[in-house]
Parts: sequence; structure tokens; C-alpha cells
Amino acid sequence: MAPRKSESAGRHRAQWVLERIPLDMGGHRDVEPEAVDLEPSGAETSSLDSLNSLTYEFTAASNLQIGLLGRILLGSKGSTPTRSARGLLWAGVMVSIACLLFLVLIFLWAMMGLRHPLTGGELASMVMLVISAAVIWRFWARPLMWLLEDRIIPAPMLLTAMTEDDCQLEMPKEQGVRYIRLVRYGGACPVCAGSIELRYGQGSQLRRLFGCCTESPQEHVFSFDRVTRRGKRIATAG
Ligand SMILES: [Zn+2]
Repeated sequence: MAPRKSESAGRHRAQWVLERIPLDMGGHRDVEPEAVDLEPSGAETSSLDSLNSLTYEFTAASNLQIGLLGRILLGSKGSTPTRSARGLLWAGVMVSIACLLFLVLIFLWAMMGLRHPLTGGELASMVMLVISAAVIWRFWARPLMWLLEDRIIPAPMLLTAMTEDDCQLEMPKEQGVRYIRLVRYGGACPVCAGSIELRYGQGSQLRRLFGCCTESPQEHVFSFDRVTRRGKRIATAG
């Protein structure tokens, strides 16, 4: 498009109109198209990399405030080998929780087999049993199962002191020995310098931990690898 001045007629002012200019005049291009560089330059790539990657800071148990229950289950250092007296205590806790859940489900199954119409009291008992089973599974059984299978879970608040920030419970293997220990993986968001904390994903990622920025938890999201302690920015929907 190019402006073109129309011929002035008499007293009227000349009018300007936009006129389409053909780009290709008889096979000859007047204007050579400029080469557009779509690839980011080296400097841009490195700055993008620094925005999109995160190195997690690791805080050992010795630098965390451990609560009373944490001292009983993990010791004053916040770390215990699985092959130890405390390891047996952990196994005992896990078996007890599994037994408790099994017992609640057995009661529920027995009540469902009742042949007479349910009384108000029986109905209330059934509701209580269903709620108990759900609570035991959600807050005790499932986290411990995920700890055994995934090697890391957000630490229950009861294990740490009230004033301590969010920690994790992990099961690393060091020099052939498996440990249960309290740790914290955190860091500073490379985008906005906010604090990074580990949270579970949503939907199909319900069981995967992500490093989320506390300032923009839905947008500044990074993958989390306990072993390499590195994360990459996750593209969020939209
Ligand atoms: Zn951020």
C-alpha cells in the first residue's frame, strides 16, 4: 500500500488515497525480502535458559527444627537408617495404619451386610466408618505408601517444629544404606526471586512434586528431581 495524490480539480483540494502496489512486477521483485532471524541469539538463549532452569537449594536435617514426634521417629539429627530400631518403629507404624484401615473396612463391610432396616444409630456409625477410612487413607496410609514408592513426600507438620517452614521426608540411599530423613528443597524463583516450595500437581500429575513460586504458584512452575536437584520451567496451560 502506498499513498497517492489524486489530480486536483478546480477549487477542490487534492485527495489522498491508498493504492495497492503489486510486489511482483513482471517477475522482478523491487524489494528483496530481508532475512528474518527467528532463532534467538546466543545472549538471548542464555538469558532464557537462566529464566527457565532452577537449581534447588538443599537444607539438611541438622539445620531444621525438629518437633517432638520427629525426634522420636527420626532422632535428634532428623535422619535414621531403615535398618535400625527406629526403622522398626517406622515399619510398626506402617503396619498399624494398614491394620487400622483394614479393621475399619471390615466393620463397614459387616454393617453393609445387615439384613434389617438400618436404625439412625447404625447409619451414623456407617457414616463415621466411611469418614474414618477416608481420613486414614488420605492422611496416613497414602503418604507412607508414596514415601516408599516415590522416595519423597511433603513432611507431615507433626514431625517439624511449629515455627519451621514446609519440609520433606525422603528415603535416600547413601553408600548402600537406605535412610529416612527430614530435608528441605527450596530456592529462589529465577523469574521473580520469590521463594520456591514443593507442591503436588493437579489432575494426572496429582502424585508429582513441582517447585512452585509462592508469588505466582500457577505460572512460575518448575519440575523437580530429588537426585539432580535441578528443575526446568513447566509450560502452564494458555
Ligand atoms: Zn516467581
